[in-house]
Amino acid sequence: MSELNKVENQFKEKIKSFLNQNSFNTWIKPVKVVNIEGEVVSFQVPSKIHIDYIRGQYRSVFEKTLKDILGNENISIKFLIDSDTDFSFETKRETGTVVKKAKDLHKGRVAPYKETSLNPKYTFENFVMGNGNETAYVSSLQVAQNIRNTQYNPLLIFGGVGLGKTHLVSAIGNHAFNHDPGMKILYMTSDIFVFQIINHIKNKTIDEYKAYLRTKDLIIIDDIQFFAKKDKSMEELFHIFNYIYNSGGQIVLTSDFHPNEIHELDDRLKSRFKMGLITDVRPPDLETRAAIIRLKAEEINFTLEDDIVMFIANNINTNVRDLEGAVKKLYFYYSHFNKEISINKAKEILKELITSKKSSLNIDKIQDIVSEFFSIPKDLLIKKTRTKEVAEARAVAMYLCTTQLKSTTTSIGVHFGNREHSTVSHAAAKIQKKLSAKDPETTKMIDEILNVINLSTC
Ligand code: ADP
Ligand code: MG
Repeated sequence: MSELNKVENQFKEKIKSFLNQNSFNTWIKPVKVVNIEGEVVSFQVPSKIHIDYIRGQYRSVFEKTLKDILGNENISIKFLIDSDTDFSFETKRETGTVVKKAKDLHKGRVAPYKETSLNPKYTFENFVMGNGNETAYVSSLQVAQNIRNTQYNPLLIFGGVGLGKTHLVSAIGNHAFNHDPGMKILYMTSDIFVFQIINHIKNKTIDEYKAYLRTKDLIIIDDIQFFAKKDKSMEELFHIFNYIYNSGGQIVLTSDFHPNEIHELDDRLKSRFKMGLITDVRPPDLETRAAIIRLKAEEINFTLEDDIVMFIANNINTNVRDLEGAVKKLYFYYSHFNKEISINKAKEILKELITSKKSSLNIDKIQDIVSEFFSIPKDLLIKKTRTKEVAEARAVAMYLCTTQLKSTTTSIGVHFGNREHSTVSHAAAKIQKKLSAKDPETTKMIDEILNVINLSTC
């Protein structure tokens, strides 16, 4: 065995203990150690996505593991993309990072791609992974890499408007097609899908339609919350889903809500969906918002100073579409008047956008405020952690969500790591009871948090 192989094996063996099986298989297994020169260790990885992900998530564990194995404190890591497996159309930037330009995606595309109805501009490469969309991103990527052999079927991504659902599911299709142009992919919005079904039933050609769907490797249906209103076709829908599923086709769906929240949705469809993976996208945190703003500006060759980026990121926390809207608004001014934008000018241009958005309080924001108030990481509120302090913070957050928002306890439970609605009601009632009993500590605490909420939403 060569020296490089030995290092690679030891490296993988050691790093395995830090990660779960899925993460290991997706991110570490395909990595190869291809060179060690002095203190520089070079890894070959299948794609740019691997580089981004490893740099973002595993940098320190990579460094620590290599230092241990090689007994050298000053290791640095280099990544090379395996040109046989990375099919992205790349242009190198000065920084050495690789970006895929959306317009390049059109090049060389032939009829089968057109038939997919996919929007080529949505790729994994131009999607910023961060707090709020990490699980959805990773599961989408796993599905994209294993279309004919996925563990998640169907994959359903749900979450608020403008948070990247359409982008992610389109990225699955684009990735799959780029790697295998023979792949048969179909993207539809749910209203078109339902319209087709109704039409085919009417024309008595539903069997042909089913046979057609059966020829597809990947079927993406966007915005299935609209299924609810078209209940006539629901029965047929259930059979069609079974049919596609049984013939090995991958199904990917998006919805604005968790299927449990779509009350009119057929129960059999709900349980069919639950047999796959249901994952959500939540509004991005500050750091992710800033990264998205930078990317969106860069995509249109627009340079934004850091103070302006942070101003937008601090003040627009609703969804990504709004962040994009802010960048476009500034760009419009810049290109129209051919003038550099100062921070004061930016504030003036974005004034309307910001005041009208500030009134929007949501579950995510309450979680942010409560986690900050208790000085505990936000994800502990969502995870199963049961320490006394976390449980209390979680109960407070649930109480505030039930009293400050119009959301149902079911939807609140979903945002707290898919907890039952009864858990939410129970927690909220506990806090309410303490308040009713005029428990001084609880009263003071809720009062203080409400102040922060009011300040942040006025
Ligand atoms: P949804 O389908 O959830 O309503 P979209 O996928 O249409 O949202 O996203 C709205 C816009 O925001 C799109 O232009 C998309 O490219 C962009 N977007 C959303 N999330 C991200 C992200 N994490 N990184 C980059 N762009 C994003
Ligand atoms: Mg959408």
